[in-house]
Amino acid sequence: MRRPFIAGNWKMHKTNSEAAEMVRELVNLVQGVDDVDIAICAPATALSTINELVDNTNVALGAENMFWKEEGAYTGEISPLMLKDVGCEYVTLGHSERREYFEETDEEVNKKVKAALKHEIKPIICVGETLEEKEAGETKEKVKSQVLNALSDVDSNNLAIITIAYEPIWAIGTGESATAEDANEVIKYIRNVLSNEFGDVADQMRIQYGGSVKPHNIAEFMETSDIDGALVGSASLEAQSFAEIAKFS
Ligand code: PGA
Repeated sequence: MRRPFIAGNWKMHKTNSEAAEMVRELVNLVQGVDDVDIAICAPATALSTINELVDNTNVALGAENMFWKEEGAYTGEISPLMLKDVGCEYVTLGHSERREYFEETDEEVNKKVKAALKHEIKPIICVGETLEEKEAGETKEKVKSQVLNALSDVDSNNLAIITIAYEPIWAIGTGESATAEDANEVIKYIRNVLSNEFGDVADQMRIQYGGSVKPHNIAEFMETSDIDGALVGSASLEAQSFAEIAKFS
């Protein structure tokens, strides 16, 4: 069976001292919780600080983005080797904010996925439809193409460590989450797509829901048949609420 996985996505929030304060509190609050994988994906500037604080705890560290090259003249970019060096186990890739504001394409997401896997960093690949696409009935078509493009030419031996985060864009940061039923239906569909394309390994791949997940609604999502966890934005900024979500999973 797949192990539940709750990941926080801090986005562009927290200085080092704020990060340290939150993570110290979180580590205490989730101490001994052993039936769920917990990770914090944080801005690059806070990764080293967090890495020291989560050492020997049940909280894992992730980055929010990376470039696919190992090193070179790419001013401002951060490589998989650098993320490994500061203890990152995970990296979120293709978040809708990166696709929208930084014009990341499926092709770039695919290069990043392959680079992460090469360096044994576990990708959390974000997919999801806009409100217009949802209203036009194009949700499944959109997530199918995002998932298959992100995984194009990926070695099937590596698929099991990949997480897909289904995040309907209209539900991100809006307080308006998808219903558990609707989210489960899309996630079930994504698992079918994975299974048709890659076979049995699809059963090992975790698929999270993301978009306004809070302590009060996490249970509904986790009670569904196919949702394996959550990618949590604003409610991950505060230790108490993020711990409540992790414990409820
Ligand atoms: P939210 O963000 O929980 O604030 O809606 C989710 C995300 O963007 O991953």
